[in-house]
Amino acid sequence: MRLSIKHFMLLIIFSLLGFLYGIFADYYQEQQEHTAEVILGSLQDDMSEISYLLSKDIQDKKGVRTSRALLDRAVSNNDFIKAIMILDDQRVLLTTDPHYRHAPVKNAVFLDPALSAQEQLSGNKGFEGFIRFYQGKNLQKLTLVFLFDKQEVATYLSHNSSKFLINFGVMPGLIILLIWLLLSHFIIKPLERLRQYAYYQSEIPKALNLRELESIRSSMVQTFSRLDNEQKELFKMARTDSLSGLANRHALNEHLKRLIADASRKQEEFAFLFLDLDNFKAVNDALGHHIGDELLQQVASVIAEVLRTNDFVARVGGDEFVIVLHDYQSLTELSHVIERIQARLKMTWVIQEHPINITSSIGIALYPKDAEDMIGLMQCSDIAMYEAKKKGRDQHYFYTEQLNVTVQETIALDKAMRQALKKDEYQLYYQPKVNLHSGEIVGAEALIRWISPTQGMVPPDVFIPLAEENGFIVELGQWVLKEAFHQQVAWKAQGIDLPISINVATQQLLNDQFELQLESLLEDTGVAAQSINLEITEYLFLDQNENNFNVLSRLRDRGISVSLDDFGTGYSSLSYLKKFPIDHLKIDKAFVDDYNTPDGAVFLETIVKMGQSLNMQVIAEGVETEEQARYLKQIGCIYYQGYFCSKPLPVEEFIAFYGNHQACSV
Ligand code: C2E
Ligand code: MG
Ligand code: MG
Repeated sequence: MRLSIKHFMLLIIFSLLGFLYGIFADYYQEQQEHTAEVILGSLQDDMSEISYLLSKDIQDKKGVRTSRALLDRAVSNNDFIKAIMILDDQRVLLTTDPHYRHAPVKNAVFLDPALSAQEQLSGNKGFEGFIRFYQGKNLQKLTLVFLFDKQEVATYLSHNSSKFLINFGVMPGLIILLIWLLLSHFIIKPLERLRQYAYYQSEIPKALNLRELESIRSSMVQTFSRLDNEQKELFKMARTDSLSGLANRHALNEHLKRLIADASRKQEEFAFLFLDLDNFKAVNDALGHHIGDELLQQVASVIAEVLRTNDFVARVGGDEFVIVLHDYQSLTELSHVIERIQARLKMTWVIQEHPINITSSIGIALYPKDAEDMIGLMQCSDIAMYEAKKKGRDQHYFYTEQLNVTVQETIALDKAMRQALKKDEYQLYYQPKVNLHSGEIVGAEALIRWISPTQGMVPPDVFIPLAEENGFIVELGQWVLKEAFHQQVAWKAQGIDLPISINVATQQLLNDQFELQLESLLEDTGVAAQSINLEITEYLFLDQNENNFNVLSRLRDRGISVSLDDFGTGYSSLSYLKKFPIDHLKIDKAFVDDYNTPDGAVFLETIVKMGQSLNMQVIAEGVETEEQARYLKQIGCIYYQGYFCSKPLPVEEFIAFYGNHQACSV
C-alpha cells in the first residue's frame, strides 16, 4: 500500500497527538493523585492535630463535649471536611453536624493504604483516627471520624482538571492543528499541485514558499516548457517536408480528415489535385540532384504563393504535389485556378545559372463525386494525372468514371499479359519480306501474337504499348528473341536459311542484359549474326547520347543488321540517319497508303532516294495492292512487306507459303 503525503502527515500528526495525549493523560492522572494526596494529607494533618489536642485536653469521655468549638473550627477551616464525629465504640459522643448522629459503617471509614488517595477520597465516606487519653490510670480510646465533603473534593479536583485540560489538552490540540495547517499549506498542497502539474501539465502552479519546493517547481516548469517546445518542433517536423518546407503526406492526411468531416457536414465539394512535374527526372539526370532539389524548392514556394490562404498544398513524392482547393463557384473557375498554377510553373526557372523549362500535369478528383476518402481521392487524381500525361503533358485532366474503367482494364490487361507468358500463350507469326522484282522472300519479320484461351488472338497493338510503359517488354522481348533464334535454327534445318527481323523496343535495347542475351543466343544456337536483323524505332534517338550510339555500333560490329522501323512517324530528324549506324529503312505504312496523293508521292520518292544515297536498304511496309507495289517498283524501292504478298503467318503456314509464293512480284 502506498500512502499519500497527506495521509502520511495525518498519520504522523495523529501518532504525535496520541503520544502527547498519552503523556498528558499519565501526567494528568499523576496530578489528580497528587492533589488528592494533598487533600488527604491536609485532612490527616487536621486529624492528627485534633487527635493530639484532644488527647492532651480531655480527662474523661464526657469532657469530649467541650471540644465542640475546636471541631467546628476544624470543619469550617477545612472545606473538605463535612463533619467530624467522636465515637465511643459505636456510640456517637459528639458530632459537628446533627445530620450524622449514627456511627458510620466501619468499612466506609477504613483507610486502606493500598488504595490511591483519589480512590480513598472517592470510595470512602471519611476516615478515622483515635483519641487516646488517661482517665486516671486507664488508657481510654475514642474514635475520631472525619466525614469528607465529597462534593467539595470533586469540585476541587474537577476545577483542577479543567484548568489542566485547557493547558495540556487543548493547547497541544491547537498546536497540532497549527502544525497541520502549516504543513498542509507549505508542503502537502504544494506537493499535490506539483504532482498534478507533473501528471496533467495543466496549469503552471504559482511560486511556492519553500525554497526546495520552489526549485523543484521552477525546474519542472523549465523542463516541461522545453519538452513542450520540442514536442511542438517534432510535431511540426513530422508534418513538414524537409526539402520544400510544405506539408508532407502525413499532414495532408490529417488535413483531409478534418476537411472531409467538415465538407460532409456542410455538404460541400472540394477539388483534390495531383500535380506531377513533367520530365523532372531529365532535369535531375542532366543537371544533378542539387539543381533538381533547388528547382523543387522554388516550385513549392511558387505553388504556395499562387494559392489562397484557405487552400492547402503538400509535397507527397519526388516531384509530386497535392493541392486541395475549395471555395470555387464552378468547375470553370476551378480550371482557371489550375491554369494559373500551370502557367506560373511554366516560366523559365534559373537555378544556379541554368535556365530550366518545366511543365506540369495535373489530375483532378472531386470530393465527394469521385471519392469520399483520401485513398480514393489519391487514386482518382492519380488516374486523371496519368491521363493528362498521356494526352501530351502540360495539361490538367478531370477524373471520370470512364477513365477509371480504362484504368481497371489496363490493370487487368497488365496482369493477364504477364500470366500469359507463364502459361506460354504467346506465339510468333512471320511476315515475309519480299523482293519486288523477283518476288523472292528475302527475310521474315517476327510479329508477336497472344493466343488467349478466353479472348482469342490478341494483336500486339493491344498489349505492346502497355508492356513498353510498365517495363514488361524487357521480359517479353527476351522470350521473343529466344523464340526467333530457335525458329531460325529450325528453318535452317529444313533448308530455309532466312534472316529474321525482330522488333526490339527502345527500353529493351538499352537494358544491360540485352547484349548479353543476344551474345549467348548467338553462341548457343549457332545462328549467324548476319541472319539476325533488329527493328528499332526513332524513339531511341530522342536521347542522342553516346551510350545509345555505342549499343548500335557494337551490334553492327557483331554482324547484326539494324532496321529503322516505322520511319516517318516519329520526329524524323534526319541528322541521326547520318550519325547512327542503320542498315535498313522501313517506310511506314501511312506513307505507302498515301502514294497516290501528290505529297505522299513526293515523300515516298524522297525517302527512297535518301535511303539509296545513304546506302540503306529501303523497305516499304504495309503494301496491300498491286498498284502500290508497282508504284514503289517504279520509284526504285526494291523490298516490301504487306498483305499484297502475305499477312503475318503462323510457322506452319509460313513454310507452306514459302514453298509457293510466286504472286509476290510485280
Ligand atoms: P511493326 O513492326 O511496324 O509491324 C508491322 C505491322 O503492320 C504488323 O502489325 C503487321 O501485321 C502490319 N502489317 C503488315 N503488312 C500490312 C498490310 O499490308 N496492311 C496492314 N493493315 N497491316 C500490315 P502487328 O503484327 O499487329 O504489329 C504491330 C506492332 O507491334 C509492330 O509494328 C511492332 O511495333 C509491334 N510488335 C509486334 N511484335 C513485336 C515484338 O515481338 N516485339 C516488339 N517490341 N514489338 C512488336
Ligand atoms: Mg517491325
Ligand atoms: Mg513498322
